[in-house]
Amino acid sequence: MVRTAGDLADGPTETEDQQYGDHSTPLARAAEHILRARHGVQLGPTLHRPEATRVVVVANQKGGVGKTTSTVNVAAGLAQLGQRVLVIDLDPQGNASTALGVDHRRGVPSTYDAVVEGAPLAEVSVPCPDVDGLMVVPATIDLAGAEIELVSVVARESRLAKAIKGHPLVGSAAEVGDERFDYVFIDCPPSLGLLTLNALVAGEEMMIPIQAEYYALEGLGQLLETVEMVRQHLNPRLNVSTIMVTMYDARTRLAFGVAEEVREHFGDQVLKTTVPRSVRVSEAPSYGQTVMTYDPGSTGALCYLEAAREIATKGAPS
Ligand code: ADP
Ligand code: MG
Repeated sequence: MVRTAGDLADGPTETEDQQYGDHSTPLARAAEHILRARHGVQLGPTLHRPEATRVVVVANQKGGVGKTTSTVNVAAGLAQLGQRVLVIDLDPQGNASTALGVDHRRGVPSTYDAVVEGAPLAEVSVPCPDVDGLMVVPATIDLAGAEIELVSVVARESRLAKAIKGHPLVGSAAEVGDERFDYVFIDCPPSLGLLTLNALVAGEEMMIPIQAEYYALEGLGQLLETVEMVRQHLNPRLNVSTIMVTMYDARTRLAFGVAEEVREHFGDQVLKTTVPRSVRVSEAPSYGQTVMTYDPGSTGALCYLEAAREIATKGAPS
């Protein structure tokens, strides 16, 4: 089953009814999300926190498929649902940093310092100004050099893993307590180089955004081969937990066909919620915001909130 923006507007399913209580009309949901976004108000039941930090790698070597957009909006959505979230910007372009409203000019403490220089992650993260409970490690253009600089460094593919493990707020409830991060999201660059490899070694879960267009599945084979290689040699715990169909245009047969094909390939890994193509989603970054605060009542924001809820409810793969 594919759940589109249209279905969201049609109203809740039975399980959603249980989750939201009886004020679950589309309008009520939009109103609820606006309140959450503006005032941090928690309405309805809060999500359960995972027992231990879930480290999610957002990767697809194809550019422009919605990695960054999905990272920042799902992360913000989870934070708005009461989770504690860290986003690590691993793309030298720094688009996630821009969307989350944090400074990423050359010279600010950044992912580069953590990955290349070995600086503690906690010292290079800053709060997202618009979303409570969301921290960000910004990426500066220095990171562009890391791809080459790392080649000659010891344990070059496990630098990020070490930085994340060393963060005092990453771990299980028993080890770290209530202050722990529930989620760490890593926004990868559009390549399968050493930076992405570092992310794949650092995470247990992978989220792959797929754009609902004709060439969507092209290149995925190469990505999955890389994942298999990493599983065999570097990180046996890595799991493709989430496939997210983005920029879905419900009016076209093509988008529907692509979504069906993705579902045939990946089954339950595919989120029921698809993210529609939406102008509000694409213009939010130019205001240094995610769509979750820029226009919390918009369809794009509500779909990302649903996606966030789905990811949280599904839980970590075991
Ligand atoms: P990636 O990180 O994979 O390169 P981005 O998240 O930066 O991809 O998205 C590529 C472009 O598509 C950006 O300009 C972004 O604003 C736009 N975009 C992403 N998702 C949507 C959407 N749901 N609706 C409209 N535009 C989108
Ligand atoms: Mg990106």
